[in-house]
Amino acid sequence: MLGSDHRAPTRAPPRRGRIRRRPSERRLDAGLSVKANLEILTSLAKRRGFAYPSAEIYGGFQSTWDYGPLGVEMKRQIRELWWRSTVQARDDVVGIEAAVITNPAVWRASGHVDHFTDPLVDCLECRARVRADHIEGGVCPSCGAAGRFTEERSFNLLFRTYVGPVEEESSVAYLRPETAQGMFVNFDNVLTSTRRRLPLGIAQIGRSYRNEITPGQFIFRTREFEQMEMEFFCDPSESLAWHRYWKEERLRWYREALAVPAELLRLRDHGAEELAHYSGATADIEFRFPWGWGELEGVAHRGDFDLRAHAGASGRQLSYFDPEREQHVVPHVVEPAVGVDRILIALLFAAYDEETDDRGERRVVLRLAADVAPVEVAVLPLSRNERLVPTARAVWDELRPHFRTQYDDAQSIGRRYRRQDEIGTPQCVTVDFDTLDDHAVTIRDRDTMEQDRVPVPGLVEALRTRIEASRPQAGPPVEAPARGG
Ligand SMILES: [Zn+2]
Repeated sequence: MLGSDHRAPTRAPPRRGRIRRRPSERRLDAGLSVKANLEILTSLAKRRGFAYPSAEIYGGFQSTWDYGPLGVEMKRQIRELWWRSTVQARDDVVGIEAAVITNPAVWRASGHVDHFTDPLVDCLECRARVRADHIEGGVCPSCGAAGRFTEERSFNLLFRTYVGPVEEESSVAYLRPETAQGMFVNFDNVLTSTRRRLPLGIAQIGRSYRNEITPGQFIFRTREFEQMEMEFFCDPSESLAWHRYWKEERLRWYREALAVPAELLRLRDHGAEELAHYSGATADIEFRFPWGWGELEGVAHRGDFDLRAHAGASGRQLSYFDPEREQHVVPHVVEPAVGVDRILIALLFAAYDEETDDRGERRVVLRLAADVAPVEVAVLPLSRNERLVPTARAVWDELRPHFRTQYDDAQSIGRRYRRQDEIGTPQCVTVDFDTLDDHAVTIRDRDTMEQDRVPVPGLVEALRTRIEASRPQAGPPVEAPARGG
C-alpha cells in the first residue's frame, strides 16, 4: 500500500471522518548507531554521484532529487534483488506493471479521493504551513512560536491532472498514490489468465506520487517515489499465518540479501489504535535512522477490504472459486510494501563508516554488500604511464561483461583507493609494471585493505569467489504455512 511512507491506513475508516497518519519519526533517547548524519550523507551523495538536488541549476525543486550514475546502479540492484526473491524465486507470485494514470474510479473506490488527507494549519506568526499532527504542545515546528494557528483543514495528497485537451472536472485524473490498487483491479485478469490457485501473490515495482506537505530528509520522503509492493491473496482461514510468514520472510531479506546488520533492524507490530479498521494485523520493519527508528517496510494484513470495495464499485465479482469446497471465496490479502528510495538511504546509512589508518589518515568507507554496490570492481593502473594503460584497459575489457566496473587513472593510486572506498567498491584491481612481465594483478580488499597477487587468466573467477564469500550466511528458511488449510 504505502511504501515510501506507511504512516497509516489510506482507506476510508468508517469511524472517523478522515485518515489520520501517525508521525513516522519516533525519536530515540539512545545514541546513534549509524555513523553518518543526514548532512554527511547528502553531501557524499552529491559529491560522488548518487543523487543530486533536482534541477539544481535552477535552485533545485522542493525536496526533489535526481539520481546520478552511482545511485541509479544501486537502485537497479535493489529492484533486481527484490524481484528475484519476491517473484522469480517463488512458485506462488507473479508480476504486473499497471498504469500510473488510470480510471479515477479506482481512487474513488479505494477511498483515496475522499479520505487520503492530512490535517493542515497555517502558523499565524511565520505563515508556515504545517501538519496539525506535527504540532507538539502547541508550538510551531517551523518558528518555535507558541499557539497561534489557523483552523484545521484537510488537504488531499493526490496529484490531480487532466486527461485529454480540455481542463474540466470531467477529465480529472490522478497520478497513482500507490501501486497496490493495480494488483486489486487486475486480480481477476491475473487469476484467469494464469489459471492459478490460491495462494497467489501479485507483485509490482513502479513510481507513485503523493503531494506531501512536508517532504524531506533527503530521499526518505519525497513526492515522487518508487514502490515495490506485493499483494498476497490467500484463503481467509490462512491469512494470519501468512501474515506471520511474510513478516519474518521480509525481515530475513534485509539481513541476507542486503546484508543489513540485525541491530539496525526491528519488527514492530502495530498497536490496536494504529490499525486500519479492516486490518487484522500490521507490522513495520523499521531501520535505525540517525533521527530514530523509522519505517522501511509495512507488512499489512488487509483482509478482503480492497477486493470488496472494487467489487462493490465496479459491479464485477472479484472472488476465487475454490474447487475443493466448491464455493466462491473472497481472498484475504497480506501486503509487504516498501520504497526503493528508502531502502537506498537506509543502505547508505548502514554502510557509512569512518576510520583512521595506521598512518593517521582518515578514510571514509561505504561498507556496502557487493550485490548492491554501484561498482563491484574498479580497475586502476598504477599510473598513466603509456606502457601500463593498454594492459590496464585490456584487463578492464575482460571484466566489464562480468561485473559492474569502473576504470580510474586520475591522480595518485592512494587517492583512487580512497575514492573507491567512499563509493563502496568492494574490490580494486591494480595493474602495475610487474603485470607486464608476470601477467598478474593485485586485488585490494575494501574492508581489510589486504592485497593479493592474482594471475590475469583466473581474475574473473577470483573476484567472483570473493564476492560470494562476502555474502551473509543464509539462515534456515522461514517456514511457510501449510497450503490448503
Ligand atoms: Zn511558525
